[in-house]
Amino acid sequence: MSLRIAIIGSGPSGFYAADALLKHAEPAFEVDMFDRLPTPYGLVRGGVAPDHQSIKNVTKIYDKISSNPNFRFFGNVVLGTDLTVADLAEHYDAWIYAVGAARDRKLGVPGEDLLGSHSATELVGWYNGHPDFRDLQFDLTAERVAVVGVGNVAMDVTRILSQDPDELAKTDIAAHALEALRSSRIREVIVLGRRGVAQAAFSPGEIKEIGELESADLVVSPSEVAIDAASEADLADANTKKNVDYLTERSTFGEGSRDRKVRLRFLASPVEILGENGRVSAIRIEKNRLEAGANGVSAKGTGVTEILPVGLVFRSVGYHGVAIPGVPFDPKGGTIPNVQGRVLDAPQGQVLPRQYVVGWAKRGPSGLIGTNRGDSIATVQQVIADFASPSPVGADKAAIVKVLTDRGVFLTDYADWKRLDAHELAQGQAAGKIREKVTRIPEMLDLILKLRTN
Ligand code: NAP
Repeated sequence: MSLRIAIIGSGPSGFYAADALLKHAEPAFEVDMFDRLPTPYGLVRGGVAPDHQSIKNVTKIYDKISSNPNFRFFGNVVLGTDLTVADLAEHYDAWIYAVGAARDRKLGVPGEDLLGSHSATELVGWYNGHPDFRDLQFDLTAERVAVVGVGNVAMDVTRILSQDPDELAKTDIAAHALEALRSSRIREVIVLGRRGVAQAAFSPGEIKEIGELESADLVVSPSEVAIDAASEADLADANTKKNVDYLTERSTFGEGSRDRKVRLRFLASPVEILGENGRVSAIRIEKNRLEAGANGVSAKGTGVTEILPVGLVFRSVGYHGVAIPGVPFDPKGGTIPNVQGRVLDAPQGQVLPRQYVVGWAKRGPSGLIGTNRGDSIATVQQVIADFASPSPVGADKAAIVKVLTDRGVFLTDYADWKRLDAHELAQGQAAGKIREKVTRIPEMLDLILKLRTN
């Protein structure tokens, strides 16, 4: 008899966990994957930038995993309301949280809540047509905007705001976002790194892509890419070295002649977002110096400040997990407390039997899509070790479906998704783009019902 495992979340970490379980013979596993959205893929659908289509090819692997007869997908099921942890305990031998990190981290500076101060998470969700964010409004009439943070999300946001909309028009960007970007007046994006060039979190490929934009010049001053003594040791990292070499060369290019600019600033921390009539009008930054310590290089304020007039601020300083009813949570790290993927009842607490965690909910919001593969396999190894002598709960496979439908939950399955997928691709083709996403849940569900009977 197979052990029955539930995976909550259908992003990369969830699919890699499913794959590792389904490939295991003794004990064998059956996997039910749940997602709060009617559609699968997590950040691959809602996070990866529309002009990064090749990254999305990874969904072909997820489709293959889903074709295993021991795999079922249940979309449109919210853990904590539609489905409870008690249900999981009753119907599954074990369950794995693959819920990611749904919220943005805060900067903690005055003015953060002014109109026009947004998280990058919101903008990313908006241009990707994520149902939670698609109805947000961004006032793109400002000529100058600031992006805080120098990670890969900051690069995505900067590229989307600086790129020629005609290029984006061919992608799977959400229609409402493309329309808004077509009338954007943004001409300058100032990207702020609190530490130096050698501590930038972006990948070499990402910064190079900004440098290669047809529509904008990447501008960085030679004084800000100069390496100080505190940063010498960081150059041992190959990616850091590539970033530093690339930006050192770019710093000699000057302002360039393109209509738009991406201005990269280092050693600059936002200390206040300033407003006029409740709207962002400027950002006050403090010049930093670097200090090497036991935990690496940190930024220390010098007391010297500068005001940059900007009409919008996008905070791109990392993601943060969200607490789910009935599931232990570490509010500090925004993760589910765990030891190597085994869930604890509290940070530094006791192991909770049968509960596991993978991905950003396990280790925090770091790493590329592929990082999740090894991470999920490691958690699945704990599951396998804990179930060396299986004694399955033996729940009937149909029972959980009845529980959820009796509660009035409209369940979507993988076949529904593939029909919606085909619909979106066809709509996209008709509009000369890769895909036209359906971006509201009620619309998705209506369409799914219709497509079932066609
Ligand atoms: P990230 O890589 O952790 O970068 C966060 C940035 O915010 C860092 O530059 C950090 O600076 C800065 N920051 C944090 N707190 C700050 C503060 N209080 N003031 C000013 N700056 C602050 O996070 P992310 O960009 O959200 O990306 C999350 C993960 O997804 C990363 O692993 C990333 O590589 C991955 N991702 C990959 C791609 C891709 O491959 N194309 C695209 C998007 C995301 P410090 O370093 O000084 O803390």
